[in-house]
Amino acid sequence: MNNEILLKNLRNVPDFPIPGIQFKDVSTLFKNPECLRIIVDELYELYKDKGITKVVGIESRGFVAGAALALRLGAGFVMCRKVGKLPADVIQESYAKEYGIDTIEMHTDSLSPDDVVLIHDDLLATGGSMLAAYNLVQKFKPKKTYVNFLIELTIEGLNGRALFDDDIDITTLMKI
Ligand code: AMP
Repeated sequence: MNNEILLKNLRNVPDFPIPGIQFKDVSTLFKNPECLRIIVDELYELYKDKGITKVVGIESRGFVAGAALALRLGAGFVMCRKVGKLPADVIQESYAKEYGIDTIEMHTDSLSPDDVVLIHDDLLATGGSMLAAYNLVQKFKPKKTYVNFLIELTIEGLNGRALFDDDIDITTLMKI
């Protein structure tokens, strides 16, 4: 799926946070009422018949549309956060980044084996952070796990999808 209105309103910030990165700034989509509606409507159409019981949003840009979608689906919303942010008991997953190791966490009581889960984030680049979130969610042994990004980056030879097994159901609203 590729959406002209969303693509037209998405801000590109060159050389942020470091030289050479073309940062896709979804804040210009979230602040625009029409774009926000399009995002949530399109996500709802994709997932309304999947029996989703929990939407997991990845900190922090995955929280915005993730929570709005959970409300539309009649599902709950769960935060997947960076290390040290969640106050109760957590389980963790660590993954290698370009420089060093990153760790993400979820509360131990955030999902159960009865859940059908959608993990949502704003953007797929290398896929490392989503794969870690996917592996973390699998520790709860949910019935099924879907994956969604607003944006899939395929420029500069990125192929984040290749990190995921073919049987994982991944959707994106925009490909760049
Ligand atoms: P990755 O783990 O490499 O797929 O990176 C995805 C995460 O990093 C997402 O949470 C994005 O918000 C962020 N990210 C990576 N590259 C970009 C980019 N070019 N523009 C905006 N966000 C990015």
